[in-house]
Amino acid sequence: ATLTGDAAGSGAMEGRDESGAFDKIRLESELRSALDRDELEVRLQPIMQIATERIAGYEALIRWQHPERGQVSPTEFIRLAEETSLIVPVGDYVLGRVCDMLVELRRRGRSPLPFIALNVSARQLDDPALIDRMLAQLAKRSLPADRLEIEITESLVFNHSQIAALLARCHSAGMLVALDDFGTGYSNLGPVLTLDFDRIKLDQGFTRALGTPRGLALVRAIVAMTAALDCEMIAEGVEDPAQLQALRELGCDYAQGWLVGKPVSLQEVLETG
Ligand code: C2E
Ligand code: MG
Ligand code: MG
Ligand code: MG
Repeated sequence: ATLTGDAAGSGAMEGRDESGAFDKIRLESELRSALDRDELEVRLQPIMQIATERIAGYEALIRWQHPERGQVSPTEFIRLAEETSLIVPVGDYVLGRVCDMLVELRRRGRSPLPFIALNVSARQLDDPALIDRMLAQLAKRSLPADRLEIEITESLVFNHSQIAALLARCHSAGMLVALDDFGTGYSNLGPVLTLDFDRIKLDQGFTRALGTPRGLALVRAIVAMTAALDCEMIAEGVEDPAQLQALRELGCDYAQGWLVGKPVSLQEVLETG
């Protein structure tokens, strides 16, 4: 009880300072029931292949529609879920939904079948059975493993010793692995050179910088590096046509962002093609 009181009343809480203080413990129990109450939703954000202007895949992004708080951002509750290990059931929920969505896209005749990229965080990667669970979910629906991509954020890669083994397992199973938020974490390029990613996702900060000569030069160098590593590049946070045009001229493979499309429900994906 002392612990609860301390935590609720002290500056140990993160985030909100308004009267409705951000109560971690309460939020944790609410997240637990959110899973049962179906308050979590997986949205899909389209990823366009720049050369063909076709939607090649989607990134799965979780949303929490809280009955009183409204929409809670994943940047708020994913960290909480990690700290409390709730990330494991949350991650499994996302995985199940993503596989069901692939089945639905296949059933509706979407051909070639798009890939769906799934974000995985540190705690999930610590779970030795994660990849097996992914493969089991795919196999029971007869889905090809190369339609599933996992996104690992850059800062995590530098802190995780098992990452090379994990990449090898994904690759032998046929799954793709993308390095997320490239350019935001550390400036050490060593792991990028030794680890065998299929795709590199350029953080939106760099996309935003495309309008400046320095930003443009830097992204040109990153595109060249990506090609030299035999990776594909996805630019994140593409919001205007000038950015897309610059990326096209630089030879970037894919674009993702509000210009291409916002994260939407599967229903909307099916309705708009
Ligand atoms: P992320 O993987 O880097 O995802 C990209 C974020 O950028 C998403 O925010 C997306 O909605 C946003 N975004 C996309 N296009 C644009 C754009 O043109 N402009 C701007 N300003 N923003 C754009 P979101 O959905 O709030 O997700 C935030 C982060 O939460 C994600 O960053 C990811 O790290 C994490 N996350 C989301 N879903 C999951 C999940 O299912 N599992 C795990 N472990 N993490 C997740
Ligand atoms: Mg991501
Ligand atoms: Mg990202
Ligand atoms: Mg990002």
